[in-house]
Amino acid sequence: MSKTIAGPEIERLIQLLARLPGLGPRSARRAALHLVKRREQLLQPLGVAMAEAAARVKVCANCGNIDTRDPCTVCTDPARDQSTVVVVEDVSDLWALERAKALNAAYHVLGGVLSPLDGVGPDDLTIRRLVERVAAGGVEELVIAVNATVEGQTTAHYITDQLADFDVKITRLAHGVPVGGELDYLDEGTLSAAMRSRTRF
Ligand SMILES: [Zn+2]
Repeated sequence: MSKTIAGPEIERLIQLLARLPGLGPRSARRAALHLVKRREQLLQPLGVAMAEAAARVKVCANCGNIDTRDPCTVCTDPARDQSTVVVVEDVSDLWALERAKALNAAYHVLGGVLSPLDGVGPDDLTIRRLVERVAAGGVEELVIAVNATVEGQTTAHYITDQLADFDVKITRLAHGVPVGGELDYLDEGTLSAAMRSRTRF
């Protein structure tokens, strides 16, 4: 246990910052010091922004996205193609796809993937709500954009089975050579998946 070098308020700030992804105790100390040195320009506005976010953040009952309104900004955007729904594991994936401007579509955030070993079953995810959305009509294509992990693919198959009776086109992301990737550096799984899903030139 290292010696305490600041008052309890600052120590608490460091402890909380250290829980953020990508920040260890050392970088949390550095961040805390940066904040307290700039308390007017940074620490106070950050505190206000955090309090406002904490008070207003909601989970969209329709799609599972996180926003300050329910239904969320994505679900209520008239400029989006609401007949195409991209199914993702987490809000971070939704944000990544939006940054890539990949598709002007609606989303469905599962809240994780099926993982029997970790005790995550279908009822822990928003799969039932997804089936309801498809059953309600208006969804023509479901793009399953889960991670290319065993759990991700198991989840994709489970969702496909649940929707077998509905007239909806189900697609998935291509697996293969990353843009700018060199074949020599790819693992065998990626290379063989790329070969299997080859497309016409
Ligand atoms: Zn939504």
